[in-house]
Amino acid sequence: MDVQQIRKDFPILSQKIYGKPLVYFDNAATTQKPQCVLDSIVNFYTTYNSNIHRGVHFLSEKATEIYENARLKVKEFINAKSRTEIVFTKGSTEAINTLAYSFGEAYIKPGDELIISEMEHHSNIVPWQLMAQRRGAIIRVLPFYDNGELMEDMLEKLICDRTKIVCVTYVSNTLGTVNDVESIIKTAHAHNIPVLVDAAQAIQHLKIDVQKLDCDFLALSGHKVYAETGIGVLYGKEHFLEELPPYQGGGDMIKNVSFDLTTFAELPLKFEAGTSNFVGAGSLLTALNYVDSIGLDNIAKYEEQLLEYATKKIEEIGGVTIYGNAKHKASIVSFNIDGAHHYDVGMILDKLGVAVRTGTHCTEPIMKHYNITGTVRASFAMYNTFEEIDTLCEGIIKAKKMLR
Ligand code: PLP
Repeated sequence: MDVQQIRKDFPILSQKIYGKPLVYFDNAATTQKPQCVLDSIVNFYTTYNSNIHRGVHFLSEKATEIYENARLKVKEFINAKSRTEIVFTKGSTEAINTLAYSFGEAYIKPGDELIISEMEHHSNIVPWQLMAQRRGAIIRVLPFYDNGELMEDMLEKLICDRTKIVCVTYVSNTLGTVNDVESIIKTAHAHNIPVLVDAAQAIQHLKIDVQKLDCDFLALSGHKVYAETGIGVLYGKEHFLEELPPYQGGGDMIKNVSFDLTTFAELPLKFEAGTSNFVGAGSLLTALNYVDSIGLDNIAKYEEQLLEYATKKIEEIGGVTIYGNAKHKASIVSFNIDGAHHYDVGMILDKLGVAVRTGTHCTEPIMKHYNITGTVRASFAMYNTFEEIDTLCEGIIKAKKMLR
């Protein structure tokens, strides 16, 4: 993998911040966009812009073709069985809200239970809580060990005959843990319980094969995998999506409407009410083609090296606690300088041109687990370099001197 060549594809990376070269380590929040994705957006608006699905004119047909090609690309990328299993949403959050609402309506009765892991992003907690409140359901929490690995053995103990779904993240956005979702799915399926995998932090790092995983549902966000914001996917096995009621009503999701009776469109349009983000879908198509041109295996190998290098160098500094030391991790390092506030560290790093995220990372239960108010999070992508990690470490040493 030629990282210097890849960096040239991302115009934002050549910027200076406060006169220093930008070091962008906030990739778990959102990734930067390659020129081909930026071009695809401009090209869409300058050449094909027209609403999809409801026009017979040339532009509308062309826009529809790009939108549906994006669906086919996602199907291929995650190896879904059918294009009908790919529902476009505005992101992982909307995908999970869609599922939580529909699943609750279809299957949840008072007293039923759901299992959610302790390391979930708020967007895989709150939609289920809202549903549980509405339907009178109970949430059980699958905890994790201090090293950031899930207590998988506990799953069997939490499952009972009222358990209706297990919701788990593939990769923790705070701890970097790559969960053994295949094994979790096997355990749940042995009890006929479906599983939702939150793949918001996995899609850009790991090859995902939904048929091999055998997950029932999966959520992802385009902007985490080099596409535009405002486009994401809910994958669902066809038989579930057929059974589930729609989440929102409106245009494009109907077959016929009358004041007496409305019938719904075939999958996946039943779940895509209103004008979808068709330009975003086009950008996702381009982004996934771009990732394929580099190869997820190559990306994963390189990011693993970055993670190993960063972990070793940060540990060598001393006086720094890393949160999340699971055996299998994606390229995310959360840490605190002992005795210093994460915001202060983040601000010092910012002045050196290093963009990291500070705070709870939308995972307050993880903060509660460690009894902390937040962490500094450095998350790496394929365009980051070892030299940039050196700059981060120089910044940590400087912050340590200034704050302690
Ligand atoms: N799940 C995880 C693990 C995440 O890291 C994020 C965002 O950071 C989300 C869900 C929500 O993604 P979005 O804000 O794109 O909907």
